[in-house]
Amino acid sequence: MNILFFGPNGSGKGTQGAILKDKYNTPHVESGAIFRENIKGGTELGTKAKEYIDRGDLVPDEITIPMILDRLQQDDCKNGWLLDGFPRNKTQAIKLDESLKKANMKLDIVVEIILDREIAKNRIMGRRLCVNDNNHPNNIYIDAIKPDGDKCRVCGGELSTRADDQDEDAIGKRHGIYYDTETGTLAASYYFKDLAAKDDSIKYITLDGKPGVKDVTADLVSKL
Ligand code: AMP
Repeated sequence: MNILFFGPNGSGKGTQGAILKDKYNTPHVESGAIFRENIKGGTELGTKAKEYIDRGDLVPDEITIPMILDRLQQDDCKNGWLLDGFPRNKTQAIKLDESLKKANMKLDIVVEIILDREIAKNRIMGRRLCVNDNNHPNNIYIDAIKPDGDKCRVCGGELSTRADDQDEDAIGKRHGIYYDTETGTLAASYYFKDLAAKDDSIKYITLDGKPGVKDVTADLVSKL
């Protein structure tokens, strides 16, 4: 199963993505996570990407597009993948579509989580990351997933924040890119929505991101 996942930062995309990944047993290819691993590992790619990420800008397409297209060619992606965080703009969407066609890879499902910009911003600022698993949901502003004191509510692991999660200007920039329907991420998702409208074999699923995690999951599972 080849799946694309869209949703603004703060919409619960990571959490719902993890559910899809388990259901279809696909690797979760997350562009942001690949950048963070490279930054942690001190690679050249990581060093290049860091300055953009810290400012809330997109890492340039010349770096990001080949990185993701190469990742999809790796062995563990042969039987499917779940792509999250890419494409982030219309150029990336077009390049992805072209390279999938070239590689004879078929897109099966596109999921779009819809969430108001202000709610998404509050959710980002409340987000806490668990040292053991970034997909353990912890958010100081969401009652259902409040951390256990200052520890992860799932495993008791240490929690931290991402620097770019606490910077309102950076969040504004990231959301500016996401909600841009002309060239940004919504333009990328609409590109695939248009494709799905012409091709019955592509399922385009929209989810309301406002309810709690469990309700969004139930909605997702019912629509798959
Ligand atoms: P995320 O974890 O998805 O919020 O990504 C963190 C940061 O990585 C973003 O704010 C961008 O700076 C960078 N990034 C992630 N995905 C992409 C992409 N598809 N294109 C360009 N930059 C990206």
